[in-house]
Amino acid sequence: MSESSTYQEIRSHLAYLRMGAAAEALPAELDHARTNGLGHSEFLHRLLDVEVASTEARRRAGLERFACLPSPWTLADFDFSAQPSVDKKLMTELGTLRFLEDATNVLLIGPPGVGKTMLAVGLARASINAGYRTYYTTAADLAARCHRAALEGRWATTMRFFAGPRLLVIDEVGYLPLQSEAAAALFQVITQRYLKSSIVMTTNLGVGSWGKIFDEPMVAAAMLDRLLHRSVVFNIDGESYRMRSHRARTEALRKGVPKVKE
Ligand code: ADP
Ligand code: MG
Repeated sequence: MSESSTYQEIRSHLAYLRMGAAAEALPAELDHARTNGLGHSEFLHRLLDVEVASTEARRRAGLERFACLPSPWTLADFDFSAQPSVDKKLMTELGTLRFLEDATNVLLIGPPGVGKTMLAVGLARASINAGYRTYYTTAADLAARCHRAALEGRWATTMRFFAGPRLLVIDEVGYLPLQSEAAAALFQVITQRYLKSSIVMTTNLGVGSWGKIFDEPMVAAAMLDRLLHRSVVFNIDGESYRMRSHRARTEALRKGVPKVKE
């Protein structure tokens, strides 16, 4: 078999095996191997590296699309010195994602603007980067989705959907009161993940006030019981980061300083 038909066959084998990146890299890698006198295994290693890197990038992009994160934040973007009530060491430990192994939940409690969503998104991004299926939703979206599902006879499917991700972020619990159907949905999502897979939840209400968001205080109590059983809780206080930068900008303008870092 001539060299060129062997080359064509290798390319079509690679295409048949859906190794498109390797197929594309083949001519350049062959050249590189010839020019640098690489052995067979070195050549093969480099070619497979290209394919593995491309498969990983595709997988990560798929996980990223699926997760629906609302912003590009990572934990590294969080300014811990601006928020001393957040234990940096503990948050960094959570960033290693060991908490996913025993289905520990993370509860971020605090008033608006203190960085709850940013931290939740940072943990979610770490989880995506580690290759875990991750999903972000707000409590209001979860409730709306479950409501539609109930009307369209897809309740069970939707519940399975929320049971699936290795990490589920439920943002903004407590901003809006949840009617009994929404509370039932949230309760079922928490119950089916209980001791199986982690939830990162953010809320503006201290756990003592959870009765207020739900019509039935017993449901709130049962939900909290499961959430807190194996959990790490952050009580974040201090002033809103948005207000802080707003005030810094106002101060700077007053003093005639031209620009303030965001
Ligand atoms: P919350 O969810 O608690 O209302 P967010 O996470 O949405 O607050 O934060 C509000 C804004 O302030 C966002 O733009 C966020 O990036 C920024 N922010 C809050 N805390 C910090 C922090 N410690 N370091 C950097 N940015 C912060
Ligand atoms: Mg938020």
